[in-house]
Amino acid sequence: MRSVVLNIRKYIADRGGCAWLWLGVSGALLIAGGWVLAWRTAGGGSLPTAAAISTLAGLGLVVLATRLRLLRQWHTRTSTYLENIGPSVGRVLNQVVANTESSILLCDQSGRVLWVNNGFTRLTGYTFAEVQGCNAADVLTGPETDLCILDDLGRCLDRCEPYRGEILNYRKDGGSYMVAFEALPICDAQGRPKSIVAMGRDVTDRLRAEQALREEESRYRAIFEAVTDALVIYNQDGTVIEANPAACAMYGYTRSQILGLSYAEIVQQECHPVFAEFQKTVSAGNSFHAVSRDVRSDGAVIDVEVHGVRLTFKGELTLLAVLTDITEQQRAQRELREYAEALQVANHSLEEYSFAAQEASRAKSAFLANMSHEIRTPMTAILGFAEMLRTDGDLSKAPPSRIEAIDTVLRNGEHLLRLINDVLDLSKIEAGRFSVEHNECCVLTLVSDVQDMVEIRARAKNLPFVVEYAGPVPETVQTDAMRLRQILVNLIGNAVKFTDTGEVRLRVEHIETAGSSVLEFAVIDTGVGISTSKLDTVFQPFNQAEEHGGHRGGTGLGLTISRELARLLGGDITVESTPGQGSAFRLRVPAGAMDGVRHISNPAQVAASHRLNPSVEEVDSSQIRFSGRILLAEDGPDNQRLIECILRRAGAEVLVVDNGQAAIQEVEAGFFEDNPFDLVLMDMQMPVMDGYEATRRLRRGGYTLPIVALTAHAMKGDRLKCLDAGCDDYASKPIQRPQLLRLVSHYLASVAGSTAPPA
Ligand code: ADP
Repeated sequence: MRSVVLNIRKYIADRGGCAWLWLGVSGALLIAGGWVLAWRTAGGGSLPTAAAISTLAGLGLVVLATRLRLLRQWHTRTSTYLENIGPSVGRVLNQVVANTESSILLCDQSGRVLWVNNGFTRLTGYTFAEVQGCNAADVLTGPETDLCILDDLGRCLDRCEPYRGEILNYRKDGGSYMVAFEALPICDAQGRPKSIVAMGRDVTDRLRAEQALREEESRYRAIFEAVTDALVIYNQDGTVIEANPAACAMYGYTRSQILGLSYAEIVQQECHPVFAEFQKTVSAGNSFHAVSRDVRSDGAVIDVEVHGVRLTFKGELTLLAVLTDITEQQRAQRELREYAEALQVANHSLEEYSFAAQEASRAKSAFLANMSHEIRTPMTAILGFAEMLRTDGDLSKAPPSRIEAIDTVLRNGEHLLRLINDVLDLSKIEAGRFSVEHNECCVLTLVSDVQDMVEIRARAKNLPFVVEYAGPVPETVQTDAMRLRQILVNLIGNAVKFTDTGEVRLRVEHIETAGSSVLEFAVIDTGVGISTSKLDTVFQPFNQAEEHGGHRGGTGLGLTISRELARLLGGDITVESTPGQGSAFRLRVPAGAMDGVRHISNPAQVAASHRLNPSVEEVDSSQIRFSGRILLAEDGPDNQRLIECILRRAGAEVLVVDNGQAAIQEVEAGFFEDNPFDLVLMDMQMPVMDGYEATRRLRRGGYTLPIVALTAHAMKGDRLKCLDAGCDDYASKPIQRPQLLRLVSHYLASVAGSTAPPA
């Protein structure tokens, strides 16, 4: 039937479009002709039959004509359509199928390959010939293909439904790839798949990129979550869109609680401007740093240090805040500031205390100086007159009790004087006002001087005092000779004092080791010794060992002062002692640089030859005589009388005044009357005008003759003060007769004949 229709269609197309008209007219004529024939032959039984036949034939022709017309119209329409577009769509589709990157595969309902396109061959490496008739699943899948996907696919196709999915396939060369595919079943009228078209695309790269992205994201997330600094990501409006666990912990929220919070719920009101600045700066792509005060979920306020940077997060431009809780640090800093302030206050008080202490120390020193002055001045009179009483006149007529009384006064006066000197020395040492000088000092002379000073005491006790040298000694050492002498006199004095039988020995040794040169003086006695328990304390002030049956006239300060002095000289004193057998005190002092210093190989002999010349100390002062005119300026009547008496007896002419101003007047008068004074003895502490001022004025007036200061002040600097004022020399009170006579004799001798008038 279909081929008939097509032939007719073809015929109509070939013969033009009017056939249906001819057929229709023919059908009508046939019907009419049948009825005419039936009418003419009426009377017979065949009329209806002929009419029926011709009518049926005519109707058939008319129906045919109608169909032909419809066919003609359909043909005309389809022909026009096919002529216009049909051929180009087919070609295009053919080209698309051939050239598409997608792989297209046509299978029958059991999966056998019917056809593949070029895209399939490019993707899999198989040609159509190689896979034709093969089961597509067998060809394309491999060991790691997810078979569940194949099961799903099969179930979908069975239901005649399309399936979309991704599956791991294998190429001909064994390489695998991920393909995103769509399988479309072509189904029959009963809904059973007759064939399947599958289209696929290699998505390996995309999936790999997505995987890499996922991995990168998870890496960043791991870092984001592991970082100990709090990280909060705000969107541009200031809403939290992400926060790491450290941030959640810092603010006291869970992640879900903090997400969606506005900055205003986190940042304290007073710091909202800081956040606004953060938003502005970071949005503009700049980095931000500030300190803010934020609020935790429990309402506690925390100090946070904020660093801000712009960040693209999930495709959105966001603001990342890196936060450090510095509450503790701020608190510590606040405390530190408070401590510093407190410290400053304490320092201030300390300075005040220190100042007060210094003031107290100054006051103590001044007090000591004054006390010393106040005690020394009367001591001059006491000792001086006691000595006069002991030496003047015919003592044989005096009752022994009087002589004993005078001796007692002398002894106690001297003891008192020693005590004053020791207290003064100790106070100076404690106040750090005791200075030592390092000058060249002749070792043998030093030892000889000490020997002179202590031998009288030893002799008085019938105690041998021996000096020995352990090997050569340097001719000179660098030290403070006066202080060294003071120490040695004290040590040997003690040894003599605490030894009744046996001997006292001074052993001198020069010990030279690499880089150090030391002079050791060992004072060894055979006296009472010191018990071990007392050895540690003998160097402490006012410490006198009781085992000697009471003290033997000491002050209890000698060893303290000696050791302090030794240390000031850079050395020290040590002691060894056996009770009942004796003691050995060892003084060691640095000898100084030895470059170019001659060593005396036989010091004992050299010292012995030196000592053949009697020392100045040994010259009897009672023999001293001089002549000259002396002005004595002294305000104390006792001292005036004493000194005047000593000087007159020695042969001098003495004029006494009691203040500095009177002294100046007398000096000037002496010159005007052409009877000048050869020497002025000037007490430095006097009423009206003190000796310093008087001396200064005399010197300013051009007076050049000797002025010797007499002062009871024995503090450091007193000597210098007197010399600065213009004095030639200095004698400290109490003035001792021999010392005074020697001093005056020296100066009178020096000025004999030379006078200069005041201006
Ligand atoms: P003092 O002026 O009383 O002697 P020191 O400080 O010089 O004071 O001595 C302190 C004490 O050390 C003395 O009182 C004495 O007990 C003891 N001492 C010092 N030297 C000796 C010594 N050579 N032998 C025994 N005891 C000594």
